[in-house]
Amino acid sequence: MTHAPSSPDAAHASAVTASTVTLHDGTVMPRLGYGVWQIDDARVAPLVRAAIDAGYRSIDTAAIYDNEQGVGAGIRSSDVAREELFVTTKLWNDQHATDAARRALESSLRSLGLEQLDLYLVHWPSPHRGLYVDAWRALVQAREDGLVRAIGVSNFGPEHLDRIIDATGVVPVLNQVELHPYFQQGELRRFHAEHDIATEAWSPLGQGGELLHDPVVVDLAQSRGCTAAQLVLRWHVDLGNVVIPKSATPSRIVENATLPATPLTDDERDRLAALDRGPSGRIGPDPATASF
Ligand code: NAD
Repeated sequence: MTHAPSSPDAAHASAVTASTVTLHDGTVMPRLGYGVWQIDDARVAPLVRAAIDAGYRSIDTAAIYDNEQGVGAGIRSSDVAREELFVTTKLWNDQHATDAARRALESSLRSLGLEQLDLYLVHWPSPHRGLYVDAWRALVQAREDGLVRAIGVSNFGPEHLDRIIDATGVVPVLNQVELHPYFQQGELRRFHAEHDIATEAWSPLGQGGELLHDPVVVDLAQSRGCTAAQLVLRWHVDLGNVVIPKSATPSRIVENATLPATPLTDDERDRLAALDRGPSGRIGPDPATASF
């Protein structure tokens, strides 16, 4: 299934780890980040350290992942200066009320051992709670107070984005959503482009399942002398996505930061575009109906 990079074109760590995206508020963010969902607090520190050693400069966690302390310990164990790292965490759904959201942010900062976050996201709109506009107001205030450099959202659809923008006049810098070749989110990506909102892909590898064994993905990867994961991550980068693959295996952490050097050809892109399954390609919950 996996093939060591073999052609001179295949291994290309420096370009992706150094590649950045400038968000609409001027904040510069690494295009590649290390996601740490489902990695226990007790295990995460050396893996964060391994990711930093492999060249990652961005870490994506969340209060609900219950591993912020370990993430902070991993960051402190590295030789890389805090200013060179980009740390994202997220506000959980039961803390949307404005005061609760502020307390949740302060708690995340304490757990991480940081004075300031680089990016704070409202994790889900949780429309059944009816409080995501309040949550967004709390993030706007937190940015004004200097606790976070940039603010964004996650799992928001156009209707949720419109609502927070109309209510506050503040456009999130980024929306972190499920996105991979089986669920390409074309309509939402167009909405983001119209509003200058960066698209960040969660589960970019389709959680390492069927996608990485798809005959088209495997065939294209073999032709390039790279792995299926590397091919899919190159597809994300070519689309302009910020991407946060997760692995708890050090060799894969390195592999996921080592992408084919040249962009996909039109033919390669077309073959991957044809894998889109629309809404049935989702792995995770639909944010419009999720009841947590
Ligand atoms: P992913 O698509 O990154 O897949 C991760 C899995 O793929 C790993 O557990 C492993 O099984 C496999 N894998 C990783 N590298 C591989 C490789 N090189 N070769 C073969 N298999 C490989 O899925 P994810 O963890 O769901 O998403 C990435 C990150 O996105 C998370 O860690 C988290 O930070 C974020 N996320 C956010 C939300 C949200 O609601 N905002 C939801 C899910 C995930």
